Amino acid sequence: MEGAIVLYPCPGSGHLVSMVELGKLILSNHSSFSISVIIPTAPFEAAATQDYIAAVSATIPSITFYHLPPVALPQNAFNSAKDFPTLVYQLCQLNNPNLQETLLAISSRSKINAFVIDFFCNASFQVSSSLNIATYYYFTSGANNLSYLIYFPKIHRSLTKSLKDLDDMNINIPGSPSIQAKDMPDSLLDREKYVYQCLVDTALNMTKSSGLIVNSFELLEERACRALTNGECAPGDSMPPVYFIGPVVSEKEEDGGQIHECLSWLDSQPSQSVLFLCFGSMGVFYTEQLKEIAIGLERSGVRFLWVVRNPPPNDETVGKLTETDPSIESFLPEGFSERTKDRGYLVKSWAPQKAILNHNSIGWFVTHCGWNSILEAVCAGVPMLAWPLYAEQKMNKTFLVEEMKIALPVNASEEGFVSAVDLEKQVSELVESDKGKAVRERVKAMKDGAAAAMRERGSSRVALAKLAESFGMIN
Ligand code: UDP
Repeated sequence: MEGAIVLYPCPGSGHLVSMVELGKLILSNHSSFSISVIIPTAPFEAAATQDYIAAVSATIPSITFYHLPPVALPQNAFNSAKDFPTLVYQLCQLNNPNLQETLLAISSRSKINAFVIDFFCNASFQVSSSLNIATYYYFTSGANNLSYLIYFPKIHRSLTKSLKDLDDMNINIPGSPSIQAKDMPDSLLDREKYVYQCLVDTALNMTKSSGLIVNSFELLEERACRALTNGECAPGDSMPPVYFIGPVVSEKEEDGGQIHECLSWLDSQPSQSVLFLCFGSMGVFYTEQLKEIAIGLERSGVRFLWVVRNPPPNDETVGKLTETDPSIESFLPEGFSERTKDRGYLVKSWAPQKAILNHNSIGWFVTHCGWNSILEAVCAGVPMLAWPLYAEQKMNKTFLVEEMKIALPVNASEEGFVSAVDLEKQVSELVESDKGKAVRERVKAMKDGAAAAMRERGSSRVALAKLAESFGMIN
């Protein structure tokens, strides 16, 4: 019987694409296996990943996709990025019967060597364990983050209050910078919530799994990688092997061969002169914040390429407009586009981020600190300004600034608001100051380190070979 690796990603583009790219990486180094990807049907963003899945299906026959049937989720469960973790945990839990059926169907044709799951698919650990299938977690964020998650049950046991009631408390764990309680992910702030319990369960199951696969590389997060490998992050528990196999970053956009207009605009800009602003798959701002960004950019005098979305439906300005899809200008200061047309370019909603980051005209990147975006910037050697919005991004900001030293921070209010004055100041600092230059040097070193890690005998390639060996598939 043929050996199969089954991947079970969470259906958010940052998670799903990363998991499929892991599958591609395994195949390109260990070609005798087939990869099956099981995808739960989500009530959101199928369109965002549809083209990507179609392109992979068309070009790589050893990857097969299985789509699980839709399940009944609570009505209106997804309104913003904040709802995402609860929704996907529920989605995977409700999918357990469908998953079991699919795993049984696959195992009737092939031997399943390994089942690799996203941490949001934690509920499936129960199913695969009952079927005696070796289960690995693929962590689509970094080693510092994983350390915090693995250590978290200990923090949970040591406290009686929720983190939301302990705002100023500093949390310290081995191998990572300390984090203020209020900067922990929203899902971990309230111990009474379903999602909180899911995360604690995830951490506990992770330590019982066959292995943890992390999308990072040793040089980028040295201390955290060590603390995970030697078990310091799970005091009193046994730790499975941890494989740092990253950076797993797809080589190119699945753009159907079309060149986005913004890339032609970049062609006409001087080398390393453009500030790129992009806030992930779910980043949106209220009109007040959009205006402030625009003013800050205008005052800074830098060239910019800004991926900008309309504000959320409950925004005041949105409520007053009659058009169903108002132009982005309705939310920006009057005359902004005209005044900045010689040095600024707006892209509505979505841009080919990887191609942009790798364009020679890009000099700096304002990022929401999603892990894929961070790795893409590292691989392109672009220094960052860290502006976290949701999920684990406030922690990522601390790791980027204090530990990896590849970004400067934005200065946000308690509510997360960034003024035009502050933005202008921080952009200038990144662009002009010695601090900014040091960040550029450091990110360049990490770019070289990333390439070295992925080369033959590099740390990530060695880790991948060990992972393959553990899957029982040396070739
Ligand atoms: N992305 C993109 N264009 C956009 C916004 C996002 O190509 O306009 C891609 C980006 O390159 C990255 C992913 O979407 O690969 C976002 O993942 P990340 O982990 O950074 O953030 P998330 O969306 O999960 O918060």
